[in-house]
Amino acid sequence: MDILNGAREAVNSGLFSRRSFLAKSSYFGAMYAAAKLLPMPALAAELAEDSRVSQTPIVDKGFASVRKIGEGLYATISDPSKGFQTVCNGGFLVGKDSAMLIEGFISVAGAAFQMDALRMVSQVAVKGALDTHYHFDHSMGNAFYGANGIPLWAHANAAKRIVESYGALQGADKAAFLGPLEKAVKEAKTETARKHREDYLAHVTTVFSVSNSTVLALPNRPIDAAKLPMKVDLGGVTAVIESYPGHSGTDIIVRVPEQNVVYAGDLLFSGMYPVCFDTQATVSGWRQTLKTFASWDNDTVFVPGHGPVCGQEGIALLRALFDDIEEQGQKMHKAGVPAAEAADLYVVPQKYKNVGIFAWDFAIGPTITKLYAEWGAK
Ligand SMILES: [Zn+2]
Repeated sequence: MDILNGAREAVNSGLFSRRSFLAKSSYFGAMYAAAKLLPMPALAAELAEDSRVSQTPIVDKGFASVRKIGEGLYATISDPSKGFQTVCNGGFLVGKDSAMLIEGFISVAGAAFQMDALRMVSQVAVKGALDTHYHFDHSMGNAFYGANGIPLWAHANAAKRIVESYGALQGADKAAFLGPLEKAVKEAKTETARKHREDYLAHVTTVFSVSNSTVLALPNRPIDAAKLPMKVDLGGVTAVIESYPGHSGTDIIVRVPEQNVVYAGDLLFSGMYPVCFDTQATVSGWRQTLKTFASWDNDTVFVPGHGPVCGQEGIALLRALFDDIEEQGQKMHKAGVPAAEAADLYVVPQKYKNVGIFAWDFAIGPTITKLYAEWGAK
């Protein structure tokens, strides 16, 4: 069955029908099978002894669990191996007067799940929700906030980029859109290259299908990055909103300096290679951002965009992965290997064999081509 037609039929027969769920499951299934994304724990091992972080979740639905990570601070951690309602991580902050939700997730069901979790611990008014950036797995559930009258904050460019990136796919000809990617699979010169192009095709197919089965909703509280940091007082809990370069050109983080807790969005992939495909992703900018994160307190708890909640070790690993990609990239560049070929030739060292790769052509490949571009090489 054609995936897109399947999704359309499912939408016609009711948004949350079993059929719709199965249609979504099958294309996500293909995506994650292709990505070989293994189930990951909600917490990194180094947090096992951290008294701020609860080992027991307040709710666990498989696809995501929610646990306390500070006073009035909660993390929503996704496990896409068990379902695709949320896909990315998020969380919420609860003060005496009001609360704030983080992420629109990949579906309305995902955003609704997090709201239900908030209501398990507090009935305070919701001041707003925030998309850490515009990417589809963080924003396709935004309609939940619209339907519930919850203001939605995001980087000032996020709304525009949601429309440009995902609105543009709505009603587009699927065959014409995916054709060049299918051609790239067929024309791959090596087995490795073919596998990378296949993974890419599976992921882009998912982006197309989700975009076409989602009613887009846009953030209505644009954050001007030039005016940051911005403090949000929730009553005894103060969130500080900041913006840093690296992953998407629209990256916003939420810090709670009084408790050394950071909701980092996709500026942190925990236990995973960095996803660097965005036209506005910058390797040098991202590494500078990670250097800043590394300069923060040693006992900082980070909620990453994907992967387990972690401490400074998670930042150190991501920095080491960038270093390794650069080291191998430099060797290939010096040996005269062109960027496009080098992008397929990185070898995952044995010590990183358990590090997740979202999809080669979203992660390692573009990191190498962007590094080449930064060196002024082709
Ligand atoms: Zn992202």
